[in-house]
Amino acid sequence: MKLTFWGAARQVTGSMYLLELEDGFKILIDCGTDLDQQKMEREKTLGHYSLFPFEPSEINLVLLTHAHIDHSGNLPNLVKDGYEGQILCTTATMPLADLLLRDSAMLNVKRMKELQNAPVSSKSKKSRRSVKDKKKPFRFNPQELYLEAQVDETAERFVTVGFNQKFKVSKNVNVTFIPTGHLLGAANIVLEIDENGTKKTIGFSGDIGRRNYPLLLDPQRMPPVDYLLCESTYGSRRHTNKEAPVEALEKVIRQTCVDQPGRLIIPAFSVGRTQALLFVLNKLYTTQGFPPIKVFSDSPLALRSTKVYEKNVHLLNDEAKDFYAKNEELFDFENLTYVQDMKQSKAIANYGEPCIIISSSGMISGGRVEHHVMTNLANPLATVLLVGFAAEGTLGYKLLHGMKSLSVSKDKEIPIMASIQSIDVFSGHGDLDDLTEFVEYQSPEKLKKLFLVHGEYESMQSFEQHLNQRGYNNVEIPKWGDEFDL
Ligand SMILES: [Zn+2]
Repeated sequence: MKLTFWGAARQVTGSMYLLELEDGFKILIDCGTDLDQQKMEREKTLGHYSLFPFEPSEINLVLLTHAHIDHSGNLPNLVKDGYEGQILCTTATMPLADLLLRDSAMLNVKRMKELQNAPVSSKSKKSRRSVKDKKKPFRFNPQELYLEAQVDETAERFVTVGFNQKFKVSKNVNVTFIPTGHLLGAANIVLEIDENGTKKTIGFSGDIGRRNYPLLLDPQRMPPVDYLLCESTYGSRRHTNKEAPVEALEKVIRQTCVDQPGRLIIPAFSVGRTQALLFVLNKLYTTQGFPPIKVFSDSPLALRSTKVYEKNVHLLNDEAKDFYAKNEELFDFENLTYVQDMKQSKAIANYGEPCIIISSSGMISGGRVEHHVMTNLANPLATVLLVGFAAEGTLGYKLLHGMKSLSVSKDKEIPIMASIQSIDVFSGHGDLDDLTEFVEYQSPEKLKKLFLVHGEYESMQSFEQHLNQRGYNNVEIPKWGDEFDL
């Protein structure tokens, strides 16, 4: 059989791997949006648009590790381009992927308008691009911009399976989804393939979570496989905060909203990160008698995904299950307001008491959080707390790297008086130690090949060296389009 790396190859986004068996059966593992600049360079080199360098109608099955858009975001394009098979994922991944794909379709409408408005000079017409995008080239090929109708067609193809249940997908192939923490429903996938009487196993890591993450199960051990694909997002880094999420957050809130009458703005992804924050806050208020500072959860997508978490309590960790058994809710406390519309969102600026605002996007690149941050940057009693990764070029990245003022127009500059802080206890990705543990479930003698994917190239090289020192000498860092006979 042949494995080809059509995404997340020496870069973080765009996960997509094609497995072609000798009997002709073709399986695509993940089909994510590629947000890296390499895509544009590749298009320039190839001279044409290359979203799928294979024929989508010839794929027999898609396996989806989890709902994040860099793993699922191109599924509607795959369907649009002729894919007619099933998309297999876990029961919680399906509703979260559905929400995220619909959110993307909504953003695509804005992106289409951006494209239409592109030639208009910013002097004559107010630019619609977000703070992050203003100096960046447009990252999407127009053909990538699907709409809700394509998401509807995609949604019809989802078929769900439970965790740890071996599922026969063809005469010669069994699939098992193994919990990996990271996000509700997220899985590693193990394929057992019988080729001409020889059994071969391949493990796809998806994204690897971390232990003791709020709400989520710890990543589970993957059984021994012949070939392993391992994500490498944190292949060269260790998380620095050693305290538990509840302690880390309590400390920041005390500093920013109790010891001073301030407001704390937490940019957070709507799916996953926001639920972790709300649950930790709920614990602080409900079980630890923390002063009831007002909390605004300001993201419609967050509210919808919170409902998915509430429907899937049985898939959460024991702590969350116990909390639910005692309190009959996970994300609802007296001083919490779910903000509905934009008018309510803007009105938070007039709230005079200390408060906590959780809003997306996590990197401050679009979304309602932008106006919360902008209206508070010059406020010395405000704090912006970054709780996740902020890519270069985003406002989150610039704030973290000591930006002194923000230019909002030709003659208006906002001085940054707010305090800028960050913590990594809410990062959903395992760090170097977690990734090492994941690999070390496999014996270096038995593992035929270890492929590093889903990471910056330098991080992967460093991770490779680290693994070499532990006896794993069969490591590959595939480039886009590299194929291997397994
Ligand atoms: Zn992910």
